[in-house]
Amino acid sequence: MSRLIRAVIDTNALRHNLSVIRARARGAKVIAVVKANAYGHGLVSAALALQGADAYAVARLEEALALRAAGIGTRILLLQGVFTAAQLEDAAHERLDLVVHDASQIELLERTGGADRFAVWIKIDSGMHRLGFAPEEFAAALTRLRRLTPAPSELRLMTHLACANERDEPVTRAQLQRFRDATRGLDYEISIANSAGLFGEVALGCHWVRPGIALYGASPFTDCSAASLGLEPVMTLTSSVIALRRVPRGDSVGYGGAWAAPRESLVAIVAAGYGDGVHRSLVSGTPVLVGGQRAALAGRVSMDMLAVDVTGLENVQVGTPVVLWGAGLPVDEVAHHAGTIAYELLCGISQRVPLELK
Ligand SMILES: *Cc1c(COP(=O)(O)O)cnc(C)c1O
Repeated sequence: MSRLIRAVIDTNALRHNLSVIRARARGAKVIAVVKANAYGHGLVSAALALQGADAYAVARLEEALALRAAGIGTRILLLQGVFTAAQLEDAAHERLDLVVHDASQIELLERTGGADRFAVWIKIDSGMHRLGFAPEEFAAALTRLRRLTPAPSELRLMTHLACANERDEPVTRAQLQRFRDATRGLDYEISIANSAGLFGEVALGCHWVRPGIALYGASPFTDCSAASLGLEPVMTLTSSVIALRRVPRGDSVGYGGAWAAPRESLVAIVAAGYGDGVHRSLVSGTPVLVGGQRAALAGRVSMDMLAVDVTGLENVQVGTPVVLWGAGLPVDEVAHHAGTIAYELLCGISQRVPLELK
């Protein structure tokens, strides 16, 4: 009973999801996005399970260095690029691809030289207004990058979609149009689609796709389950019952008395709390699997514990396994009860939760 809460990572499911994505990508190369510790799944072990990918993408240099240190030789994109000369040297040494999204990063390359050590992905802001060159700045940025001597070993173009998770979104069409207008006549490889773009069939026909969440078996859409897309859950966050109590009708459970027993109830106390990354914003009624049976969260999540109404369930005792999300209980459904998205639950599990590869 020493390791009550753990996140079981199903590496076969990762491989399965990659194969589903590959079939959907219709020949485009697949960049497996493994930022944020592979969305909480463990950076190196997830990347090793995803070795069928054509490339990886991370947000930070440290993540890329960790992948190289683990012996991974595949192409790695730094999605935010680098900001200092020291980072640039590390990136060159480890043969990392740079995203260049800001003029200061071009200046860095001009000052440092040796741009031929890099494949550079120029990011165009087609409307999300987070990173990238505005369409009217793009031509100048491209000219400066082409004039570098030596020139980057490769140039590629990318953009990111703000609303691809909503279908038939006019914003997406407008973004694609702006990207096409800005890049007309250029013959570079391009990358646009994240998971939502890929499964929403937006921007197919590009050379590279960049799925993240779909690899981990969650849905990029609110109106369509991961299972219906053929994806399998990768992380199962599991713990067990550590106490059981009868609660008289009308008595409340937990901090703030946020849940009161509607009838004499049997309540299971589970060793999992917001200290593990089980959000306190999960409300009473959130589904929890107890011994494989659906039950409902009762009252506020505490730091190390939460309560589940198990009245009428069979064979619940101290030690009975509990699933907070994963196999049998889609993380998307749980996230909905916390008013958030699966991404935040998955990458938010805390350091103290051991990952167990299956
Ligand atoms: C995180 C990220 C992705 C992956 O997005 P998902 O919605 O998880 O598929 C793709 N591209 C960029 C630039 C990202 O930052």
